[in-house]
Amino acid sequence: MSRANPRLKALVLGSAAGGGVPQWNCGCGVCRLAWSGDQRVRKRTQAGLALTVDGLSWLLLNASIDLRQQILATPALQPKGEGRRSPIAAVVLTNAEVDSAAGLLALRERQPLSIFGTQATLKAIGANRMFDAVDRAVAPRRAVCLGEAFEPLPGLKLELFAVPGKVPLWLEEGNVGVDDIGEGTVCVAAEAGGARLVYAPGCAHVTEDLGARAAAADVLFFDGTLFADDEMIVNGLGDKTGRRMGHMPVAGPGGTLEAFARHADVRRILIHINNSNPILIEGSPEEAKVKAAGWEVAFDGMEVAL
Ligand SMILES: [Zn+2]
Repeated sequence: MSRANPRLKALVLGSAAGGGVPQWNCGCGVCRLAWSGDQRVRKRTQAGLALTVDGLSWLLLNASIDLRQQILATPALQPKGEGRRSPIAAVVLTNAEVDSAAGLLALRERQPLSIFGTQATLKAIGANRMFDAVDRAVAPRRAVCLGEAFEPLPGLKLELFAVPGKVPLWLEEGNVGVDDIGEGTVCVAAEAGGARLVYAPGCAHVTEDLGARAAAADVLFFDGTLFADDEMIVNGLGDKTGRRMGHMPVAGPGGTLEAFARHADVRRILIHINNSNPILIEGSPEEAKVKAAGWEVAFDGMEVAL
């Protein structure tokens, strides 16, 4: 049945945080299960969504370092017909982290596409000359102001908005603010034909603005990096809390489940999930807890039609 209105569709290209699942050098509980092929843990690539309204041309929300593998796994993103022409028409970057932006390097074969991001994100990318391999003459970079609507694909309206976060890991120096609100960490509000989606893969805490945007959305993809704030430390995987990494925990006081308890009408999906997070083990008590709270756990290849 054809519809007069454009229809928003999202594909989860990758659902994991930096490193993916399993991570190349990791033997944490979740990674050990994944390495051994245990059916309870799905392998996952690093986070990104693809959006479309006509099913033909696509927008990427972030270009993870796993992008080539994600395209291989996603027929809709593969070239159709002859010549060099990808269905990927545009990319929006929410920050300049390696796991959000390094995949641009996989898009360097003179494919016309537009790369959108805040001034701060494009400045960080622009300061790294390796990204000049993605020719600006064919893949122009377009700075977008916070709160300003733009249309990266016909019929798809987007707005970037700030949430608390921090600068990319590779740009950290001195005392790192982990609660900065500015162009460094942004989320995406997308709208097509009245359907609304919010993509928030990194967020240190929920602001009033984010809460209101989430309430107005049909679906919310939200930062599921760590289940517990001290998860990295307790598991001997690192010395930083989740909050120090700019990610609020899923559970506990001030965590995601608590912060969005009022949003029961919104389809809520955890994404950007670190390999240390036990919600990645199907049947675990932690997975049961997020499901009982009304959340879904994103997986690679998940489709959300609105
Ligand atoms: Zn691991």
